[in-house]
Amino acid sequence: MPERFSDSLQQKISDRLRFYEDIGIGDFYRNRMGGVLQNESQVTSGAQELTPRIEEPSLPKRELKPALPAPVAPAQARKFELPQVDTGPSLFETASKIENDTLLKIREDLGDCKRCKLHKARHTIVFGDGNPKAQLVFVGEGPGADEDAQGLPFVGRAGKLLTQMIEAMGLQRKDVYICNVVKCRPPQNRQPERDEVAECSPFLFRQIDTIAPKVIVCLGSTAAQTILQTNRGISHFRGEWLEFRGRKLIVTYHPAYLLRNPAAKSEVWKDLQKVMAELGLTVKRGKTT
Ligand code: SF4
Repeated sequence: MPERFSDSLQQKISDRLRFYEDIGIGDFYRNRMGGVLQNESQVTSGAQELTPRIEEPSLPKRELKPALPAPVAPAQARKFELPQVDTGPSLFETASKIENDTLLKIREDLGDCKRCKLHKARHTIVFGDGNPKAQLVFVGEGPGADEDAQGLPFVGRAGKLLTQMIEAMGLQRKDVYICNVVKCRPPQNRQPERDEVAECSPFLFRQIDTIAPKVIVCLGSTAAQTILQTNRGISHFRGEWLEFRGRKLIVTYHPAYLLRNPAAKSEVWKDLQKVMAELGLTVKRGKTT
């Protein structure tokens, strides 16, 4: 008599399959070498039976499953043209690089920050989370209620979707670094205001400089507009390779937007495939039966 998976594992498998369906993946194959899923960690740490097979030359190796389109070739980044509408002095130009900086030092410098009005309603500063030497950094807008309560970025519903996206790339959250433009929750989850971004973003830029990732992924327009110093809409640059302080940067939709517009998941998946190609996460074509 086959043993039934636990309810939570069933839910995770169901969520994962729904995610693949949303991004247009519908074929799955049995991995003769991989056996069957036996516990929840196999779902949360790479889902060998449910995800594409990927080779990673420079990041921890994962075995993932369903057939995918051929990877997108790495592309040349273009310099982002500054906006036609003046948004004031560039924030990142004012944030010069600090020698021998570390995430610990940045966190210490941030302290019990009250530099902007967002400190008044926050419970926890959400500094960032993940691999301090990550090749891939995700930048979101700001903490929500769950993040404010737990002190970690992207742990609510949108965070779970981001985790699925990361795992679909053949990575785990601990392989990447995740942070936000502002580190305190804006009231009612409103967009951070310019003065708040101006106070908080130098810490973000220090984090990026210190981690020195190969690729930065901006999630949503606030992150993109802050880093690129523009007020242009996300449609002007989503999915294009851009350059930020000598690093490749790509903008895609925020997971919260995807929760409201699941049809956009396939566009995000195309963007993430570009990132995979850039990081050398090549997809092995062919069945593994
Ligand atoms: S959002 Fe940033 S600058 Fe504002 S209080 Fe929080 S940590 Fe400080």
